[in-house]
Amino acid sequence: MRRGCMSLGETKCDHCKRNIPYPERYLVIDEKDGTEAEKGDTVRYCVQCALEKGYATYKEEKGEKTLTFFTEPDVNIESK
Ligand SMILES: [Zn+2]
Repeated sequence: MRRGCMSLGETKCDHCKRNIPYPERYLVIDEKDGTEAEKGDTVRYCVQCALEKGYATYKEEKGEKTLTFFTEPDVNIESK
């Protein structure tokens, strides 16, 4: 299960061990043996590591980049 969170400044990335400063976003995910699992260890990833792992992607729409941690099917936003 993936959860996107916002750091309050006291969170560390479990992957690169760096401190995640407020108000950076990070990802909480359950992993087992390094891969995503229903139940396993709770691992925190900073944005950079989440991107490297493929857990996060940037979506670009109308010149704006939005970070998404989730693997939802693309939502079609109709232009007004
Ligand atoms: Zn990291």
